[in-house]
Amino acid sequence: MAKDLSPKCKLCRRAGEKLILKGERCKTTKCAMVKRNYPPGFHGPKNRKRLSDYGMQLNEKQKAKRQYNMLEKQFKLTFDKAKKSSGNLGENFLQLLETRFDNVVYRLGIASSRPQARQMIGHGLFTINGKKVNIPSYIVKTGDIVEIKNNKKNAKIFSNLAERLKKQEIPGWLNFDFSKLAAKVLMQPEMKSFKPNFNVQIIVEYYSR
Ligand code: SF4
Repeated sequence: MAKDLSPKCKLCRRAGEKLILKGERCKTTKCAMVKRNYPPGFHGPKNRKRLSDYGMQLNEKQKAKRQYNMLEKQFKLTFDKAKKSSGNLGENFLQLLETRFDNVVYRLGIASSRPQARQMIGHGLFTINGKKVNIPSYIVKTGDIVEIKNNKKNAKIFSNLAERLKKQEIPGWLNFDFSKLAAKVLMQPEMKSFKPNFNVQIIVEYYSR
């Protein structure tokens, strides 16, 4: 399972935005975007360079890709898959990104970041419709039930889960039954139900060059 091993905080500093890649730390003043909100590198806190149209498109694509914790090949394959569906390409692409298993575990608040969700899934802590699934890129479908495995519900990693879930805003397309630690996918996420901090239309333009 390939993954991006670049220092995570540098990815945020390059994007110029918090991408929430380190979970709880991202909410504290230890966040590098609080302490050093400028691109990494030798030149230090000078103004960001003015970007060409291509540079802006590339930046937007990189920001989204890193936020969803994906590599270029995977990200592009997802875009190509979105192209095969009818309807709005940008919306199809966002739906595929949002319905990735690792993103769902993150959106439910079970993991505090997408990289942590990916790790939990890789360790086989979840089932989908009663069957163990350890593939972070698995795309959930309407009606699927995502659940923490029965014999893992009391695992140390979930010890402060109840506390964390109280603060979690769960998107309307997911229904989380806290008593069972199981969630149902109610529908496909709609673009209007979440506001990505990137412009998906610019990414569509980038890949359509
Ligand atoms: Fe990004 Fe989190 Fe590092 Fe802050 S702490 S720079 S949000 S990964």
